[in-house]
Amino acid sequence: MTNRQLFLDHVGQTSLAPLCLEIVKAEGCILYGADGKEYIDLIGGISVCNVGHRNPRVIEAIKKQLDDYLHIMVYGELVQSPQVQYAKKLADHLPYPLTAVFFTASGSEATEGAMKLAKRYTNRTQIISFKNSYHGSTQGALSVMGSGYWQQAFRPLLPGILQLPYNSFNDLERITEETACVIAETIQAEAGVIVPQNGWLKALRKKCDETGTLLVLDEIQCGFGRNGTLWAFEQFDVVPDILLLGKALGGGMPLGAFVADKKIMQSLTHDPVLGHINTFGGHPVCCAAGSAAFDVLLDEKLVEAVKEKEKLFLTLLVHSKIKAVRSCGLMMALEFDSFETNKKVIDGLLQEPGYSEGPVSLVFTDWFLFASHCLRIAPPLTISQEEIKEACTRIIKVLDAI
Ligand code: PLP
Repeated sequence: MTNRQLFLDHVGQTSLAPLCLEIVKAEGCILYGADGKEYIDLIGGISVCNVGHRNPRVIEAIKKQLDDYLHIMVYGELVQSPQVQYAKKLADHLPYPLTAVFFTASGSEATEGAMKLAKRYTNRTQIISFKNSYHGSTQGALSVMGSGYWQQAFRPLLPGILQLPYNSFNDLERITEETACVIAETIQAEAGVIVPQNGWLKALRKKCDETGTLLVLDEIQCGFGRNGTLWAFEQFDVVPDILLLGKALGGGMPLGAFVADKKIMQSLTHDPVLGHINTFGGHPVCCAAGSAAFDVLLDEKLVEAVKEKEKLFLTLLVHSKIKAVRSCGLMMALEFDSFETNKKVIDGLLQEPGYSEGPVSLVFTDWFLFASHCLRIAPPLTISQEEIKEACTRIIKVLDAI
């Protein structure tokens, strides 16, 4: 039986039409298929592989940690060097007072932990989130998801959640002294790359300060340089009370975190003790990998090159069928007239081209959860100018052909 059939028969499925592409190796910005074909990866595991697939320094750090220890104890009791070194490194590159890192096993769990922390610290129950936001798929994170379509089948969800339109100044008035926290993506990803309008995040920060509400910014997808600064919030002159991290945090290994002022974080240690616990949060191999990836990001000045690469994409991606391009660094949404057009482009990019001249690169990409008519571009930040040119040429040729 083929692996494809085994995948369909024995691996829990998430849709009735999975892509079923079998990848046997990934290196840098290229995925190698079991069919012998090579694909330029334009989505980097959905904003995970910022330093490229199998970055040599990440692989070396993983191997080194394998020789010392794997899992030794549930999170929070033992001093584990990869964990503490990575936490310190993150704290050194975050503005004060974001000094305490609580490691989790996923981004969704970081959202869960942050919501619990905000309720515990403020002694309030209301949580405010925004329409078309995505913070994860577990029940708490689903409760603050900005789409009724994905929530409906799983109700009842958490009570006390209020959803406001993103980017609306007037609606900020609905944040009150009963609000434990407001949770927002600094750049809305699954909405199809929606950037906060001028001054909105500052107004949100101000309203939170006035009401004693904690501001939680979710940079699980947009953090780690993807938007052209190490943290997206730097571009908007705000600092959150709690920062959510995930995806690129682990350098290709599973890892999440919520980061806060030590004083706030301490409230998870008493009344009750063990206010949030997990088994695998901050796994030593994942922390070693993430820490090495963070070094690569900084040492190779990958963040500094993001804006230039974004510019190259924007210069090359001009076509009458592209209705709009929204971008913030290497997080881009190409808007088409419909999902059908987008699907034709996505599928066309995976097919051998029917012409002989020019590049024959196959390109791997997809759409967004709340914007299925938009094509996602979020490649490893290591993508070369050549790879960008090849991928864009291919996109334009596919658009010509459909
Ligand atoms: N928050 C954002 C902005 C995300 O994009 C995601 C995942 O796509 C999550 C949270 C949830 O992270 P995870 O899939 O690791 O649970």
